[in-house]
Amino acid sequence: MKILVVGGIGYIGSHMLKRFKETNYDIEILDNLSSGQKENTLNYKLHVCDLSDKETVYKILSEQNYDLVMHFAASINVEESYNNPKKYQQNNVINTINLLDCMKNLKINKFIFSSSAAVYGEPEHLPVTELHPFNPVNPYGDTKAEVEKILKSYEESCGLKYVSLRYFNACGAHLDGTIGEMHDPETHLIPLVLQVASGRKKHISVFGDDYPTPDGTCVRDYVHVMDIVEAHILAMENLTNTHKSQVFNIGNKKGFSVNQIIQMAKEITKVDIPIKIQGRRKGDPAELIADNKKIMNLLNWNPKYSDLQTIVKSAWNWEKTLKIK
Ligand code: UDP
Repeated sequence: MKILVVGGIGYIGSHMLKRFKETNYDIEILDNLSSGQKENTLNYKLHVCDLSDKETVYKILSEQNYDLVMHFAASINVEESYNNPKKYQQNNVINTINLLDCMKNLKINKFIFSSSAAVYGEPEHLPVTELHPFNPVNPYGDTKAEVEKILKSYEESCGLKYVSLRYFNACGAHLDGTIGEMHDPETHLIPLVLQVASGRKKHISVFGDDYPTPDGTCVRDYVHVMDIVEAHILAMENLTNTHKSQVFNIGNKKGFSVNQIIQMAKEITKVDIPIKIQGRRKGDPAELIADNKKIMNLLNWNPKYSDLQTIVKSAWNWEKTLKIK
């Protein structure tokens, strides 16, 4: 089976490539090099191309016989999605439509999409099941919900079969210490907390301590990136065997507050981490916890690395290598 990994050198894509090295799948990458590191290609063929350039995307896809496309490329910064909604519509929605259109014309009919828990917004019930209605509370979440709806239309119009994987809070780094999370600017809690521990940042801002949660700070479901990529392997196998589209949450069914994350980081790094309580961040739901029964039952997915210790330890090892660089 020949697979195109779109956005393959970013945070999750690069962990996916490393996992593919343990398989016999024939892999190629398409990436615009806007983030991530070029050295993460692991010698797989890299097509440098932006999805807005539909002609080139079509040419690349038509010259290869891909059986399946995995789509990791997206803009993911919620604050930026408020300030620059056009960028989010272009990168996350229009570019995905470009890719799907090329696939449609070339009769490539298997697609794995990186969706997000952001499609749920402020959940009406916890843990959130896949049947929870879409109610995104920020423009980034809007774009993920839009693409999920578009996927349904493509299924009806051309028989595309897809799996949407709704990531909760992707985090952690590869246990071999060679790759990890690196965004510019970094906005995610765990890498920022660890940047304080390593001395790269002076303090961590806690965005709101007046939420209706046990300690007043936001609660999230943190899931290790290596467990996320394993879900992709299982989703892909299921799609190939059943030819049935699916939607799965990828989460741990456990919530941790911002304070609990900081506490765990203190224990692991053995460094004091100064905090500053600040106002709430726009577009942040109070609490997000995944119901993960569906993926566990149907795909036999069983997270191995998503306990908070392993997540923070692996991210800390990675942060120490970044500090040296
Ligand atoms: N957060 C925080 N300080 C930071 C970054 C994040 O308090 O410097 C909070 C944020 O408000 C949210 C949680 O940590 O409640 C996780 O945020 P992150 O950006 O990592 O992921 P998100 O849940 O937005 O996808």
